[in-house]
Amino acid sequence: MKVEAIIPAAGLGLRLKSCLPGRQAGVPKPLVKIAGKPIIAHTLCALSASNRIGRIVIAVHKDHFDKFNEVLKRFPVKKRIDLVLGGATRRDSVENCLKTIESCVDLILIHDAVRPFVSKDLITRLLKEAKTSPAVICGMPLKATIKQVTGVFVEKTLNRDNLWEIQTPQVFRKDVLIKAYKEYTDKTVTDDASLVEKLGVRVSVIYGSYFNIKITTPEDLVFAKAIVKTAYV
Ligand code: C5P
Repeated sequence: MKVEAIIPAAGLGLRLKSCLPGRQAGVPKPLVKIAGKPIIAHTLCALSASNRIGRIVIAVHKDHFDKFNEVLKRFPVKKRIDLVLGGATRRDSVENCLKTIESCVDLILIHDAVRPFVSKDLITRLLKEAKTSPAVICGMPLKATIKQVTGVFVEKTLNRDNLWEIQTPQVFRKDVLIKAYKEYTDKTVTDDASLVEKLGVRVSVIYGSYFNIKITTPEDLVFAKAIVKTAYV
């Protein structure tokens, strides 16, 4: 089955930006460096480790094309990479990438630009599951106690036994994903599986990794610098 990857990378990363020191402060989140290399370059290197993935399409903010092109030149990977214009929301960015997916593609793998520690093993396991499932996502069981809070008061404590924190990559049969995007126009979705779930399609979940973090706030950069040095990823 032919696989292409989509990376939404057009976010401005405001939760990270305001806290970054010096020259990194004006840099879009996927271009912030970890161990001397932009986050997107780590992510592309990780996805390129899988020879199952053909082309990679990246959604980029209109002001950042030159910067992304520079990074691609400086940290080349052995895959065809195409940049497309991002949108106002994550959903819009993915939709713009979807329009460029080639007709012969069977599976689409979507991965956040800012999850640089996805492993080859995880991609392999997702694609294996996708042979028999139209939608496969990954995640990890929650470690924390989760309470629903309104204002400053606890509304209720949730039973965490069947609660998972969902990650990317997420892999979909192309026809299923395109149908979900056509039928559901909710702009606030934070992952693609939510749209597919609305179609009534069963979404399979496999174990991701606690190392597969999404870099969102300045603390995540501290964790990321530590993860880069480990042999576990
Ligand atoms: O904002 P959030 O952290 O949920 O973003 C998740 C991913 O979606 C990031 O990789 C970000 O760059 C991307 N994104 C995008 N276009 C937007 C907003 C977010 O591609 N308009």
